[in-house]
Amino acid sequence: MTTHNADIAALIRTIPDFPKPGILFRDITTLLLDGPGLAMTIDRLAGLHPGPIDLVAGIEARGFIFGAAVAQKLGVGLLLIRKDGKLPGRTVAVDYTLEYGQDRIEMHEDAFVPGARILLVDDLIATGGTAAAAVRLLRKAGAVVTGASFVIDLPDLGGADRLRAEDVPVGTLVAFEGH
Ligand code: AMP
Repeated sequence: MTTHNADIAALIRTIPDFPKPGILFRDITTLLLDGPGLAMTIDRLAGLHPGPIDLVAGIEARGFIFGAAVAQKLGVGLLLIRKDGKLPGRTVAVDYTLEYGQDRIEMHEDAFVPGARILLVDDLIATGGTAAAAVRLLRKAGAVVTGASFVIDLPDLGGADRLRAEDVPVGTLVAFEGH
C-alpha cells in the first residue's frame, strides 16, 4: 500500500467515511501522539528540500503543526496562511474553488519582502487545490516558492503532479492509494 517511510505510514490512522461517506480520512493525530514517530517525521520532512530558504509557510490548520517544527529545524521563521477573516493586519488573499463552492486564504501583506524564498508545508496533498492556491498567494506577494513538502500524498487525486506542473518541486513522505 505504501512505498516509502512505512514506519511513519504505520502511525497514521485511517478512518472510513469521515467527514462524509466514501472518504478515507488519513488521521495524523495518532502520529502526533507518538514522540519518536513525530521526531522522525519532522527530521525527514525537513530533509526533503535541502536548498536555502528564508521562510516556511504553513497552511491552516494542520500545516501549522508540521510547518512550525520544520521551520525551527531549518532555523527560519514561519508564515501563517490562514482561512478568510482570521488575520488582524492588512492581508493579501486569493479565492479558490472547492468541490462545493469557493474558499479564500490570506496572509499578512508585510510578511516578507519580494524575492523571499519560501517552502510550503502541509500535512496532506489530495487534489492540490489548497496548495495551488497557497502557491498563487505566495507568488502574488512576490515570493519564490522553492518547494512544497507534505507528510502524506494521495497520488490518485493528482495534487502533487498539479503543483509540479506549476514548477513547484514537491516532496512527500508517505503515499496512500485511493481517496
Ligand atoms: P486538497 O486541496 O484536495 O489537496 O486537500 C487538502 C487538504 O484537505 C489538506 O490540507 C488535508 O488536511 C485535507 N484532506 C483532504 N483529503 C483528506 C483525507 N483523505 N484525509 C485527511 N485529510 C484530507
